[in-house]
Amino acid sequence: MTTTQTPTGLDELHILWTSEGMSCDGDTVSVTAASLPSLEDVLLGLVPGLPKVHLHNKVLATEVGDAFMAAFHQAHHDELGPFILVVEGSIPNERINGDGYWTSMGNDPATGEPITVNEWIDRLAPKAWAVVAIGTCATYGGIHAMAGNPTGCMGLADYLGKDFRSAGGLPIVNVPGCPVQPDNFMETLTWLLYQAAGMAPTIPLDDLLRPTWLFGKTVHEGCDRGGYYEQGDFAHDYNSPKCLVRVGCWGPVVNCNVPKRGWMDGVGGCPNVGGICIGCTMPGFPDKFMPFMDEPPGGSVSAAFSGAYGSLIRKMRSITNNTANKEPKWRHNRRRLTSGYDP
Ligand code: SF4
Ligand code: SF4
Ligand code: SF4
Repeated sequence: MTTTQTPTGLDELHILWTSEGMSCDGDTVSVTAASLPSLEDVLLGLVPGLPKVHLHNKVLATEVGDAFMAAFHQAHHDELGPFILVVEGSIPNERINGDGYWTSMGNDPATGEPITVNEWIDRLAPKAWAVVAIGTCATYGGIHAMAGNPTGCMGLADYLGKDFRSAGGLPIVNVPGCPVQPDNFMETLTWLLYQAAGMAPTIPLDDLLRPTWLFGKTVHEGCDRGGYYEQGDFAHDYNSPKCLVRVGCWGPVVNCNVPKRGWMDGVGGCPNVGGICIGCTMPGFPDKFMPFMDEPPGGSVSAAFSGAYGSLIRKMRSITNNTANKEPKWRHNRRRLTSGYDP
């Protein structure tokens, strides 16, 4: 556990972060790469105006076993103080768990029995100042909630209901991505921490509970390869700098800022660096985007339109580009001024 310095409003907060849902811990790992701000900067109090923050995340904690679980039990018994609950991983349906349970975190000190993640969410979500779902599993169900899965798992809003409100009066805050783009999560968390400190307005969320400024644009609108699409110039394999729509990119219909933002320190960004967009931030992921690497439905129609228009535009641009690549004819070293200067 790491501690920091403080200003006004809520001046001290815990972050109780469970990745014990149906999860691969990939979002926790991803967030360690954030830099706007970094998790370390928040925990060390290096971001001016933020409350003092205590993080409880099993992957990043130094405590183990009962020592790690203590804060979760204290929060349950109203002995911890204000906290933000971060949920990573999809939520299984424990109503269909047969004779066992799907997933748990810690044991009940009185009985020694495992406490399911669902039980923790029931206990802690209503007491949390804010509840954040990190990654597409926690937000909408994600990979574990594919067709044919046995656990009936779902996103946090499916579990708690879309009308859920935290103790701070907020709906669930969804930051999707598989994994989450690290700075998207840290920027959202930082907004919430400023809001808790009384220094920021209510976080703006869209109908799917995503921060509007992060998920308001499509991949296509921020893609470095957009110029190729517009000129109808398409890649036919992955060894090409051109638009990837014909080899499976879903960017035109996917809400994600990764091509603009990059993955780490501005570097990367799926289609920018040759990876097709498979829609990993989307509520319909993965089923609606499979099989991956097939051309998306509608891709051939829009590509055909843009191919026809684009080949004409490319020809015209090539003529203009040729002209623009030539210097004006009056730039010479002969004995006569031909620039048109007329005193
Ligand atoms: Fe792992 Fe992706 Fe699920 Fe996050 S959203 S827990 S990275 S599978
Ligand atoms: Fe759009 Fe994908 Fe082509 Fe980029 S690679 S321009 S996101 S279709
Ligand atoms: Fe996921 Fe597509 Fe965004 Fe890449 S560009 S992170 S595949 S939604």
